Amino acid sequence: MKKIGFIGLGIMGKPMAKNLLKEGYSLIVYDINNAPVRELVAAGAKEGKSSKEVAAQSEVIITMLPNSPDVKEAVLGKDGVLDGAKPGTILIDMSSIAPLASKEVSEKAKAKGVVMLDAPVSGGEPKAVDGTLAIMVGGPEDAFEEVKQILAVMGASVTHVGEIGSGNTTKLANQIIVALNIAAMAEAMVLATKAGVDPEKVYHAIRGGLAGSTVLDAKMPLVLDGNFKPGFRIELHIKDMMNALETAHELGVPVPLSSVILEIMQALKCDGKAKDDHGGIVQFYEMLAKAEVRKG
Ligand code: NAD
Repeated sequence: MKKIGFIGLGIMGKPMAKNLLKEGYSLIVYDINNAPVRELVAAGAKEGKSSKEVAAQSEVIITMLPNSPDVKEAVLGKDGVLDGAKPGTILIDMSSIAPLASKEVSEKAKAKGVVMLDAPVSGGEPKAVDGTLAIMVGGPEDAFEEVKQILAVMGASVTHVGEIGSGNTTKLANQIIVALNIAAMAEAMVLATKAGVDPEKVYHAIRGGLAGSTVLDAKMPLVLDGNFKPGFRIELHIKDMMNALETAHELGVPVPLSSVILEIMQALKCDGKAKDDHGGIVQFYEMLAKAEVRKG
């Protein structure tokens, strides 16, 4: 079994790392925040004092960090992964970052003999805990084959989608669909509530039809309870939509609906809701219509 280094033990990284430990992998972990590191050490992992130290003792390194600058810092920065990794190491970045940033980091890794895959995930915290994430992978196919079994511990589906950066392009497509689904759900449910129909009944009436979706089933029960504890924070979804817009503009692709949902989330951020779950997008519509989508 390969020795794995895990960097970034937040909402997603912590349960993913725990699942690798449960499967019997030997793990060395690092996070700039020490609390989750202590938790992983109690569960059987070894503590690394830096990304460099983690990399020096691993054959496969996984990073699960917020955004492109964090990945660049942890991999390319002082005492970063590339300061410690041996040639032949495989770096799997599972963070959701800009596809161009994946390509940039991969070029620098290649110069040190380190092969990189970009392997972002979808499914949120519950699926990270269950080990049933959807994982979309870009990068060399032989490296993918070598680590497929490790990824399968964390995900129910593991799909190679193309060269480096394609994993994150796929994730941007995923994030556009999720954000717009939540906005459509919110718009429709505020309308139904304002019209005097119980939104819980509307949800149960439509979930088996064409409007039913994974997003509807994951988010509607939380909205009905007014539970916006993250989950996936609005500020992280803003980051993904900014990356989507930047990528679209570089390619000359108009994405009108994506720019609207980005501005809706920016408005919620101004209102102090950046750390709410993205199901909290409903609050934008609730403020406009002065109606709350809650259990009767
Ligand atoms: P998080 O903020 O909870 O966790 C990130 C962790 O990285 C934190 O513990 C932080 O201390 C650590 N960190 C930051 N910079 C670091 C550095 N330089 N070195 C070491 N550690 C560092 O975020 P999350 O919700 O776990 O998300 C991680 C990634 O997964 C993001 O790109 C996010 O978009 C993506 N994602 C999240 C979800 C979700 O539901 N939360 C779902 C799918 C994908």
